[in-house]
Amino acid sequence: MRGLGASAAALVFGASAFLGLSGRWHWPRMESQPAAPVALAEAPIRFTVTQDTLQRGETLSDLFGRHNVTLDFQRLDPSLLLNPRRVRAGLVFTFRRLLGDSAPNQVTVRTSPDQRVVFSRVSDIWNAVAQPIRWQRQEVRVEGAIDNSLYEALDAGVSDEHLDSGNRQRLAWELADVYAWEVDFTRDIHPGDRFRVVFERLVSEEGEVRLGNVLASDLTISGKSLMAFRFSGPSGSKAMYYDAEGGSLRRAFLRAPVEFRRISSNFARRRFHPVLGRSRRHEGTDYSAAPGTPVMAAGDGVVLRAGRAGGYGNLIELRHLNGITTRYGHLRGFARKIRRGVRVEQGQTIGYVGSTGLATGPHLHYEFRMNGVAKDSRRVKLGSGSPVPAEHRAAFIQERDRLNVLLQSSDSTSAPPSAIARQAPETLTRWLP
Ligand SMILES: [Zn+2]
Repeated sequence: MRGLGASAAALVFGASAFLGLSGRWHWPRMESQPAAPVALAEAPIRFTVTQDTLQRGETLSDLFGRHNVTLDFQRLDPSLLLNPRRVRAGLVFTFRRLLGDSAPNQVTVRTSPDQRVVFSRVSDIWNAVAQPIRWQRQEVRVEGAIDNSLYEALDAGVSDEHLDSGNRQRLAWELADVYAWEVDFTRDIHPGDRFRVVFERLVSEEGEVRLGNVLASDLTISGKSLMAFRFSGPSGSKAMYYDAEGGSLRRAFLRAPVEFRRISSNFARRRFHPVLGRSRRHEGTDYSAAPGTPVMAAGDGVVLRAGRAGGYGNLIELRHLNGITTRYGHLRGFARKIRRGVRVEQGQTIGYVGSTGLATGPHLHYEFRMNGVAKDSRRVKLGSGSPVPAEHRAAFIQERDRLNVLLQSSDSTSAPPSAIARQAPETLTRWLP
């Protein structure tokens, strides 16, 4: 239990007191927003605020009982998302008690990033309502040089006031996902490469900050500019990333069949290197990763084999269209149901990184073969992705041009972080997935 020791000058109260519309419910669901707050008294009324966290193995009744409040939680309206049997440890409740009273008259709890529940007492009757949490959306632009890794570049390029470090890491992951078909971030980044990115920064009315979508970006890698613009059709179809000409960034094959975020939990300080010696003829690309890291199918295909194969150890081979096969070696094991003849989709987990066969340490050995001949998976041309549908092209051009102005602008278009966000740094990551 943690006392905030707060006292405030006035008590405001949602004028949504128990209306008695339905005598069966102790917890009437409010069909609409509570009316505007009404000050109950003109003279300052002092109250204390105390926070308490639901502990593991504790019930809501246990926690409320500590604060001298007895409620029948079985009758809570399901829309409050506060199921007494499913409630999880770690939820933080705020109890407000008028000075001189023996019990609180208001309890609030955040039940999701987008909702809080407010319990209020008038005389002896408690009433519970759900209130939406509004998030304000800002578009923020950052740019910088990539000297070592994408994460380090974003970590240095985005200030604490804009995004905390957890959200900066998420931004690096999101950006890596945008380019998963074009760039192998574990290998393709070199000193002198640059990035520009416009992303959404969401600020809640309680001061929390989280990352929204990446809207546009421009990566310059080895002198080549790779643009990406987020666009969804007018009918609310799924948003995708397109290049400046409207071609999808999606391709038939991922550049790397291991999630960047999984190989690189500490990628900021680590360089990737081949594990096997150079003396052996080496026909693939090796990815150092912790044992058990999921390995993804690089493209849609059918399992040709999944089993022991000499120096490869546990090997999966997939057959794709156009005479292309991919191989995944040294696996610790196979994902469920992965066996010869099974159809797999791009991005599906097929196995787990290990060190079976001729491997000196845990890593994935990946081969991309065309008509039986190994190719450098990072160099093969994968064609261009399917373009924006013709009927949405005008809308795409409009959005691309809007984002491009933000992306190219030399002066900072980023909105200043709100004062409230700076006051509440401890709440910033509470609702991150
Ligand atoms: Zn290898």
